[in-house]
Amino acid sequence: MGQSMMQRLVIALFCTLISISATVGNAAGDTTVGANSSFAVTAPPACVNNLGETVTFENRPAARNQLAAGMARRDSQGVPVIYRFGYENAPPALQQFIDLHECAHHQTGDIDRPHPPRNSPAHMMNESIADCIAILRIRDGDTDGKTVMDAAVLALTADMATVGFAATTIESRVSNIKNCFEKPMNASAFLSEILEYRGLK
Ligand SMILES: [Zn+2]
Repeated sequence: MGQSMMQRLVIALFCTLISISATVGNAAGDTTVGANSSFAVTAPPACVNNLGETVTFENRPAARNQLAAGMARRDSQGVPVIYRFGYENAPPALQQFIDLHECAHHQTGDIDRPHPPRNSPAHMMNESIADCIAILRIRDGDTDGKTVMDAAVLALTADMATVGFAATTIESRVSNIKNCFEKPMNASAFLSEILEYRGLK
């Protein structure tokens, strides 16, 4: 794995996350963690980037033990792709959220723009936008989007805490997701605003 690949992976693991099996939090002494930690891997959503290219999804082994994470990039052939690492470790709602979040990085053109420094305001803005598009797609594409959101947020919150994110970081992420769920516009209208603002449309 080259330097640049590794850097992108690190960014993606920070940016998305990150699911550790829900059973990890069981009482100490529970030795059956592995037995309940495998979820069916969901079918990926439709995803087309800002240039009209179809984004492909590839299942990969967990990048680290027990982690589910997504990574959006172009592969060595230049094909826009989303790698799904260890999705069997995340419940379906979180798998769906990660897919749509990574897809949003393709839809907004993040993939073809320079990566802002990790944790910089520009980086956090990109992440908030990706979360927002993801939750709008869940809201508008599911008959019970609220239930899916609650399940995704529950898993995301637990996993981010386990990985060691600060409580304030987790709270602001969840609050952004919930605010976006109330947005009086759909995902494509919101996306249009972003692309227009970036001069990509
Ligand atoms: Zn992201």
